[in-house]
Amino acid sequence: NTFAEIDLGEELNANIRRCKYVKPTPVQRYSIPISLSGRDLMACAQTGSGKTAAFCFPIIAGIMRRGSQPVQRPPRGARTVYPLALILSPTRELSVQIHEEARKFAYQTGVRVVVAYGGAPINQQLRELERGVEILVATPGRLVDLLERARVSLQMIRYLTLDEADRMLDMGFEPQIRKIVEQMDMPPPGERQTMLFSATFPKEIQRLASDFLSNYIFLAV
Ligand code: AMP
Repeated sequence: NTFAEIDLGEELNANIRRCKYVKPTPVQRYSIPISLSGRDLMACAQTGSGKTAAFCFPIIAGIMRRGSQPVQRPPRGARTVYPLALILSPTRELSVQIHEEARKFAYQTGVRVVVAYGGAPINQQLRELERGVEILVATPGRLVDLLERARVSLQMIRYLTLDEADRMLDMGFEPQIRKIVEQMDMPPPGERQTMLFSATFPKEIQRLASDFLSNYIFLAV
C-alpha cells in the first residue's frame, strides 16, 4: 500500500516522493480514495495523523484534473480573487503550517496556495492574493474581513475543508464559519465537495456536518 498506487496524477506523485512520503498513514489510506471519488467526508483526526496531506492531495489532484483553471491569473489590477478551494483553520500557527505543506505538495503544478490569518498586517496577504490563488488557507476572522472588503469571492469554491473544526467552535468561530459558507451557495448543489476534520464529535460538530455536508461518509480510524 503506497501513494504510487493511488491515482493522484504524475506531478503530485513526484512531489509526494520529494517529500519522502511512501506509505499513507491510516487516515490518508481511507480518506483519500473517498475524497477522490467526490464524496463529502467527516473524519476523526488528531494532530500528527497526517490529515494535512489527507485533505490537500485530493484538492490538488482535483484542481489539476479540471485542467485549464490553475494557470489563469487575474488581470493586473483586479482586486477580487476567486479561489477554487478553501481550507479553514483555527489559528495562525496551524494555517502557516498547512500553507507550508500544501505549497510543497503543489510545487510546479501551477496550483497557487495563499495563506491569510489575523493578527498580522493585511497588505502583504493582499499582495499575495492579487498574484492569483487556487487554494486559500485562512482563519475565519481574517477571511470574513477579506470578504467584506470584496478582495476574495467564494463563488468558485469547489473544495471546502474545515480543519480542527472542534477547535474552531471552541474559539467561538461558528458565526464566522456560517457566514463564510453562506457565501458559497452559488455553485449548483453537489458541485462543492466538503471535508470536515475534527478530533471530537460533540453535538455542535454533528450539527455543522448536517448543515454543510451532503450524503457524507464518516471516517473514524
Ligand atoms: P499532520 O497530521 O498533517 O500535521 O502531519 C504530521 C507530520 O507527519 C507532518 O510532519 C507530515 O509531513 C508528516 N506526514 C504526513 N503524512 C506522512 C506520510 N504518509 N509519510 C511520512 N510522513 C508523513
